[in-house]
Amino acid sequence: MIDTHCHILPGMDDGPRSMDAALRMAASAVRDGIQTIIATPHHTAKRYNNTARKIQRRVGLFNGKLKKHNIPLRILPGQEYRLTDSFRAEHRARRLQPLAGSSYLLVELPSRMIPGCLYEFFTYMKHHGIHPVIAHPERNLEIIDNPDQVLDWIENYGVRLQVTTQSLIGVFGRNVQETASYLCRKHWIHLVGSDAHNLSLRNFHFQEGYEAIKQMCGSSYLKMLQEHAAKLINGSTLASLHHHSSE
Ligand code: FE
Repeated sequence: MIDTHCHILPGMDDGPRSMDAALRMAASAVRDGIQTIIATPHHTAKRYNNTARKIQRRVGLFNGKLKKHNIPLRILPGQEYRLTDSFRAEHRARRLQPLAGSSYLLVELPSRMIPGCLYEFFTYMKHHGIHPVIAHPERNLEIIDNPDQVLDWIENYGVRLQVTTQSLIGVFGRNVQETASYLCRKHWIHLVGSDAHNLSLRNFHFQEGYEAIKQMCGSSYLKMLQEHAAKLINGSTLASLHHHSSE
């Protein structure tokens, strides 16, 4: 299994502080059946400054540590970019790190509202051949209020949505869980990520999250989500991360 959203690199954000803690997370991910993790440190959120270059360097170092400790896990570079109106400057300065070097950029919205620059951002990214992947849309209050608005993003701006396993199993409460299942049932979700930060309150919950999707939407939809993650890390077939309608 491939985890497309995880804060596992040590000392970069609100993930593990030490290398030891990061290695414990890695061992736990392997036990949960994960073989590949796209590391997605926060960038531009809470003054975190984790640029593409820094992330690539740290991923290299961490993969070396994993090998040394015989932990069979592969880490690929990614980033969780908090959407602000800095997106043009960030893109121009090459500070953004798409997921596994693909054309898909993981984007975090504020939890309460949708920023006014959203459509400008979508238009700019579309022009530059980048597909925004919205991290945990089910946790945004405006999306919880009106989840149907995401269809326009998907159909007209090439936006993709990533659900968090923790949301599916109820870690963030009932409204978030219900919105997560609504988006899955509509087949508007394209990727699954753990958004794991540690081994206590923000753990992987990968098997449980997958089981929840399987029960709600069936195993063929789950299989498609897994294929999307595989395509994402295989640069040659990126264009085929299609939108599948539920009808
Ligand atoms: Fe995250």
